[in-house]
Amino acid sequence: MSAGQHVETKTENCQICGGELEYFNSGRELTCIQCGKKEIGNITCPNGHYVCDECHGKGLFETVKEYVLANKSNNLFEIAEYLINQDNIPMLGCENAWIASGALMTALRNEGTVKVTDEQIVEAMNRTKRQAIGGYCGLTGVCGISPAIGSCFSVVLGASCRKDQETSSTMKAVGKIVNAIAAQTGPCCCKNFVRIALSEAVLLVKEYLNVSLSTPHEPINCTHSSRHPHGCRESKCSYFKSCVD
Ligand SMILES: [Zn+2]
Ligand SMILES: [Zn+2]
Repeated sequence: MSAGQHVETKTENCQICGGELEYFNSGRELTCIQCGKKEIGNITCPNGHYVCDECHGKGLFETVKEYVLANKSNNLFEIAEYLINQDNIPMLGCENAWIASGALMTALRNEGTVKVTDEQIVEAMNRTKRQAIGGYCGLTGVCGISPAIGSCFSVVLGASCRKDQETSSTMKAVGKIVNAIAAQTGPCCCKNFVRIALSEAVLLVKEYLNVSLSTPHEPINCTHSSRHPHGCRESKCSYFKSCVD
């Protein structure tokens, strides 16, 4: 493998000029075209257009938050599927991680075995927003959906730097989520990762919180295959439904 600056050119397009996004091996200082903030980033279009994570999906955070707070279901798949199927939720992007933490916390609140408040749901989502950074699934090995599930365990268990078992359990849960997601790469798919992470989370809440959450009522058939900018994994993905009915 050469150590060239450009890793590869993807077919995903710039929101501003439609140019194909490029991924750099080394981060460089980029200026967000929406808010003007300068930061080190790894993804631009050929015209240098860069959108920071704060601006990416602006407004959608509120949409996800309002939906989950008002939701009464204790089926986390029902909550998550409604949101990830909305047209304005990007195919790829950390908006999907906000959905993962919002859906899990809401299902826990509605199920009722552990006490979860609306403030705690928002807290888990805010923590997710701080650590879910676009493209970092590949750049550091930590897809934002891992801290999304971790934030739920941390909030419910009261984990923090100074704590013992609370933090240990949270980290162990995150480790299992990372492993579950790692088995689904090539290319990464945020929709698949949310579904796999939530399936693993059902086992983890049983193990660490003794909460029984339901699994999907029927198999999930993904309708987003053609939207994937890097190419859907199709038959390698558990949620792929071929169009021949
Ligand atoms: Zn552009
Ligand atoms: Zn910005």
